[in-house]
Amino acid sequence: MFINENVKEIKISDIRIIAEKLQKYSNSINLTIGEPDLEVAQEIKEAAAYHALNSKIKYSPVGGLPELREKVAKYYNENFGGNYNINNVIITVGSTEALSSTMQTILAKGDEVLIPTPAYVGYEPLSNFYGAVPRFIDMRENNFSLTAEILEKNITEKTKLIILTYPNNPSGMILDEEEMGKIVKLLKDREIYLISDEIYASITFDKYTSFAKYSEELKKQLIIINGFSKSHCMTGYRVGYILTNEELQAQIKKVSQYKITSTSTLSQLAAITALDKCSDVSVAKEIYKKRVEFFVNEIEKIGFKCLKPKGAFYVFASYENIEKLKNINSLELAFDILEKIHLGLVPGSAFKVEGYVRFSIVHDIPVLKEAIERLEKYILEK
Ligand code: PLP
Repeated sequence: MFINENVKEIKISDIRIIAEKLQKYSNSINLTIGEPDLEVAQEIKEAAAYHALNSKIKYSPVGGLPELREKVAKYYNENFGGNYNINNVIITVGSTEALSSTMQTILAKGDEVLIPTPAYVGYEPLSNFYGAVPRFIDMRENNFSLTAEILEKNITEKTKLIILTYPNNPSGMILDEEEMGKIVKLLKDREIYLISDEIYASITFDKYTSFAKYSEELKKQLIIINGFSKSHCMTGYRVGYILTNEELQAQIKKVSQYKITSTSTLSQLAAITALDKCSDVSVAKEIYKKRVEFFVNEIEKIGFKCLKPKGAFYVFASYENIEKLKNINSLELAFDILEKIHLGLVPGSAFKVEGYVRFSIVHDIPVLKEAIERLEKYILEK
């Protein structure tokens, strides 16, 4: 039977394949998926339990519960300098649906989507689903630091959308503030959308600026995407959101309506509590920072080279200086490491950068230490 070509072409992500294979080893260490071991706050769990027992959990209005939409706008204005109100917000099924509904709304066949690498694995298949063409910008030469000049060089007549992710998954880099200002100037009067995927915005170790600061200047084209998965460890609740101008909000809302009707009412009620009572995530941030610093230090001792992450909970490490590994491609290396030492990591190829691997720093220091010890032994015995 007929299957849409755009779907047929798409592969299951290597991250999922590696994570599934790991399950057959009882002593495995999983540093693949971006889901930390930290628990959802007790207040959020209690809110979910309370509402399950005492509230009417029916369909929520299309676009999300008004109370949550209002609180998301306020949260962004207060924390990231935006200028948003309830009519700028759509609540989605995680930021994944936010990306999907947005891209479905704004992309047409043949449009180009500019994506600096390393890039989150979701952008390419989503671009393909909607008939657009992902164009990756290799950022290695500039140490993974995007500049307005690099972006400008890559813009063509067909460029419809640019997707930026800061803090970046997998590199942990953030955008230089001066360059950000130049990028805003570059895009201001063009017919090009900008998706700023800010899912790690609350997990930053340095000064961080959100594109929300430019929500007026880039009103026409800016779409901010975020959610509760990383900020509040609420991956399984599936609550994300979009912030954009009112006209575009109304268009995306139609797509979201026919795609999902609305996200879980229960999860949205839990998310309201997350914003009301748990918006200070400084404790979790300190934990991630300590773990990431530990991992960077230790992994460099055994020959890997990393950029120092400025946010998120990933370490993107180059193995090009390790003589015994440097000629192996990253996918082959990830599978070999998986089989020999039962350690799961993600090949750089998943993010369009060879010679690198990504470690998700989602466990406590003793587990990370064990992972490094196994890696050291693996290299010695190679
Ligand atoms: N965007 C980025 C950069 C991510 O790393 C992820 C998940 O890892 C997502 C979006 C999707 O997150 P969710 O759908 O759980 O909000």
